[in-house]
Amino acid sequence: PAMLGILGGGQLGSMFTVAAKTMGYGVTVLDPDPHAPAARFADRHLCAAFDDDKALAELEKCAAVTTEFENVNAAAMRELARHTRVSPSGDCVAVAQNRITEKARMRAAGLQTVEYREILSADDVDESCAALLPAIVKTATLGYDGKGQIRVKTLDEARAAFAGLGGVPCVLEQMADLRGEISVIVCRLDAQHAAAYDAAENHHENGILAYSVVPARLPENVQQQARQTALHLAEALDYVGVLAVEMFVVGDDKRLLVNEIAPRPHNSGHHTIDACAASQFQQQVRLMCGLPPADTRLHSPCCMANILGDVWGADGAQPCWTAVLDEAAAHLHLYGKKQARAGRKMGHFTVLADDADAAFEAARAMRGKLPFHTP
Ligand code: ATP
Ligand code: MG
Ligand code: MG
Repeated sequence: PAMLGILGGGQLGSMFTVAAKTMGYGVTVLDPDPHAPAARFADRHLCAAFDDDKALAELEKCAAVTTEFENVNAAAMRELARHTRVSPSGDCVAVAQNRITEKARMRAAGLQTVEYREILSADDVDESCAALLPAIVKTATLGYDGKGQIRVKTLDEARAAFAGLGGVPCVLEQMADLRGEISVIVCRLDAQHAAAYDAAENHHENGILAYSVVPARLPENVQQQARQTALHLAEALDYVGVLAVEMFVVGDDKRLLVNEIAPRPHNSGHHTIDACAASQFQQQVRLMCGLPPADTRLHSPCCMANILGDVWGADGAQPCWTAVLDEAAAHLHLYGKKQARAGRKMGHFTVLADDADAAFEAARAMRGKLPFHTP
């Protein structure tokens, strides 16, 4: 079978690998972790650093290559693209790696973001930032799960936050009047072939995604606007592959502000495996191979709940899953990670129900039965 390559073998790479194998492809995974979840299913696991020349030379031989994480070396992706199909492009991945270019491209596409300033030196925290207080200072690169962010109320606090984050390039963002957070996953091959899933409504705990409720409980016109916004951004980036677009819902009029993108399938799209016509991982396979996106239709309202490492015992013992497995409407996915850590994503489950409210309630009840330890 044609061999597909993927940079990264975490849970996203693992679910990609299952989809690709089911669709008849072989899979080569590059991941330095000998216990990478995707290695359970892959034909080949290149256990090497992401910039390892020999490993990259092996990936060049694949029919197509994709990535499961955004902090992959964009230059390595551009180099791979000289030898084989690579999606998304190194350029698109680079945009997603830096909040400064990311926001600039969103604005250039005519989309609304929170008000922000670039902070490259302490001098950039000037009077023009005062109007944005209270604000959040975020590192331009490498932040995730709310890490690399400090909330500030004064300019002095903002300067201290910039220094505290290491003096690296940052953005200072106005604190938005959040009424909700949503994400839309776009599948795009080219201008003629693009599709968006229904918006997911995201709920975080301690900065980490805990639940995604789909469809998002928003007026139909706002939901439609969310899909259009995400499709428009993918078009503006000439994006090929699966793209996640996070948006804030602000104010009484539920205005949408684009927050950030992920150049890959996303945690808020895991429900697509059990509740949609095609999953985001099947789409990733299709698009990297040059096939148009498949049906994104939602078959049932649902709620995805993350299972974090906090539920594992200190000895690594797995908790009992009966709370989830006893439910006929719940689909359990465990990623096979060897080491549990507080906050580490170990698995998820998706509950289907007659409506979004019922799905959220059921997921919360089940997750509440898991023995979460407070770290
Ligand atoms: P992710 O894990 O989604 O990649 P991240 O660390 O890259 O997260 P953001 O998504 O930008 O960071 O921010 C994390 C969370 O902090 C958001 O989901 C939101 O709840 C809150 N937040 C971020 N920016 C703002 C803002 N400008 N106004 C209000 N809340 C914000
Ligand atoms: Mg992020
Ligand atoms: Mg985010």
